[in-house]
Amino acid sequence: NFTKCDLKSSNLYYHGMTPKNSFSTGRSTTSLEVRRSLPIFPFREDLLRAITQHQILVIEGETGSGKTTQIPQYLMEDVRLHSRRNEIGCTQPRRVAAMSVAARVAEETGVKLGNEVGYSIRFEDCTSERTVLKYMTDGMLLREFLTEPDLASYSVVIIDEAHERTLHTDILFGLIKDIARFRSDLKVLVASATLDTERFSCFFDDAPVFRIPGRRFPVDIFYTKAPEADYLEACVVSVLQIHVTQAPGDCLVFLTGQEEIEACCEMLQERCRRLGSKIAELVVLPIYANLPSDMQAKIFSPTPPGARKVVVATNIAETSLTIDGIIYVIDPGFCKQKSYNARTGMESLIVTPCSRASANQRAGRAGRVAAGKCFRLYTAWAFKHEMEETTIPEIQRTNLGNVVLLLKSLGINDLIHFDFMDPPPHETLVLALEQLYALGALNHLGELTKMGRRMAELPVDPMLSKMILASEQCCSEEVLTIAAMLSVNNSIFYRPKDKVVHADNARMNFTVPGGDHLVLLNVYNQSGFSTQWCYENFIQFRSMRRARDVRDQLEGLMERIEVEVVSSLEDSVPIRKAITAGYFYHTARLSKGGYKTVKHQQTVYVHPNSSLFEEQPRWLIYHELVFTTKEFMRQVIEIDSGWLLEVAPHYYKSKELEDSSSKKMPRKQGKTKDELG
Ligand code: ADP
Ligand code: MG
Repeated sequence: NFTKCDLKSSNLYYHGMTPKNSFSTGRSTTSLEVRRSLPIFPFREDLLRAITQHQILVIEGETGSGKTTQIPQYLMEDVRLHSRRNEIGCTQPRRVAAMSVAARVAEETGVKLGNEVGYSIRFEDCTSERTVLKYMTDGMLLREFLTEPDLASYSVVIIDEAHERTLHTDILFGLIKDIARFRSDLKVLVASATLDTERFSCFFDDAPVFRIPGRRFPVDIFYTKAPEADYLEACVVSVLQIHVTQAPGDCLVFLTGQEEIEACCEMLQERCRRLGSKIAELVVLPIYANLPSDMQAKIFSPTPPGARKVVVATNIAETSLTIDGIIYVIDPGFCKQKSYNARTGMESLIVTPCSRASANQRAGRAGRVAAGKCFRLYTAWAFKHEMEETTIPEIQRTNLGNVVLLLKSLGINDLIHFDFMDPPPHETLVLALEQLYALGALNHLGELTKMGRRMAELPVDPMLSKMILASEQCCSEEVLTIAAMLSVNNSIFYRPKDKVVHADNARMNFTVPGGDHLVLLNVYNQSGFSTQWCYENFIQFRSMRRARDVRDQLEGLMERIEVEVVSSLEDSVPIRKAITAGYFYHTARLSKGGYKTVKHQQTVYVHPNSSLFEEQPRWLIYHELVFTTKEFMRQVIEIDSGWLLEVAPHYYKSKELEDSSSKKMPRKQGKTKDELG
């Protein structure tokens, strides 16, 4: 019997795991009934009255109570609060949430998505003249300040999922608090899960807190007796255990990212296939940011009778999305977080233990429709002693280049005294200013330059904008494509587990000299956007289509910043130089066994997926660092160290770029460039 044998092969053990009687999760049929059954509904009138009475209101409510989907609808339905001339904006930290929630609300209100109810996320605007309710990422609202500094077209702004404390949300807090002072007609709602609401109230000059009482069933929490060596395997085993031994009810698994989620889903499907009809049907569904939206929507479809649904999700399912019918939660206790070293300026994505607050939110997902169970794949001791109380706000662990450039463009020069809820570390601010100076976006007085103004027009990171601007007059055609391909982020190549060799061969066929950016360009140019071609070459068609959309939009912006789109034809040097002009911070030099970053001598490695993995050129520029087992550089190109002095004379001195292993650098060049710098 598989349960026993699988149990033996793992050291998973849960205290008191016993099957319980079944129950039913009654689902109302009509949309109105569903809306009325939500915990927020009885408070509709009180809430609207409070909003009428106060300019700024903090709203606290258990996840799933209806804050995101209902409040904007209540506002739309209320003539006191909303005239058709102005929009209601509701921010979300994640693009998936903005899209999915907008779709849901459009459905509930019976309108076509993009008409009265729409969404706006970077590179994708699904709104129209008729739109009155707009769900948007927090980053998009932030950018709207550039064109409309008082947000005049909005009558209500809802900063939703405020507890997530993303960088953009935190900056919005400061900006919106400021404009609310002179726009007395603007209503501001700050909506949050049951976390931190006192702090929001305090920040917004003691704004009242409206609490929506939760409806929560008890959740039993189980810990493993010993730490898990392989949490992915442990998840798979736990899901199967639940499936075989536990009463009906769907299951939610929290993993850290796309790769893990895909692996987990494959493992589950494979094992279910092997077990065949010995077990009931298990519907395995992934959800993560890059998942195409039709696949995302599947997690909400009802579980077929007799089957069990298991949703394998990133943090997105922690508070942003609520899936009905979840009774079991499996929590390995990790999340992927940006971490930033303010001394070296190195930013990296790292899988780290999540906070206790996160773990508790995750567990809470099991108790929405009935009593639930949460299986934590770590020990009770680890929960108590190894996890942080709360997650550190993003503003304190990220590169601030992007927002500093934006704030400077808004005319906010004194960043030290900006009204931050939690200020970023001083060094981080200084480093951002230094980096923008080196990129030519600020002058030595810290004022925005013409270059900086143009860079800010593009909705991408400063380094990427600089790369695009550096390509004007020589190779913007190619560089725009590269920028678009980089922005769809590691979802171009398809590598199914059972066809790894074929997939890798297909990938090799795209190899061109120079590095990964040029490989991406090659893929884009060859694809012709044919599904057949993509399928045959293990390229994800949807990612290609998205890259094309992004490229179209970037190209559309070129006119505004007066960049002519020209091609460099056969020569890759100008392209690689343009990349260098944006990413010179990310230079690494070959040294024993790996690479060292030039400025800070950090050891880094070429990612095994890279086209330069074997070649190991002397000088590289990487697009990003990812920490898995080691610090890996993802997307690298080969450069000539001499270019660094050309494109970043403020930053590099020729001495730093001398090769210790070979003294090939001509002396004369070294001297003159040194004088220049
Ligand atoms: P909150 O913002 O308070 O966490 P929401 O407004 O997101 O709550 O969710 C309210 C209800 O709407 C939940 O029961 C959730 O399951 C449902 N819901 C939200 N989005 C969707 C969707 N795309 N499909 C089906 N149900 C959804
Ligand atoms: Mg919500």
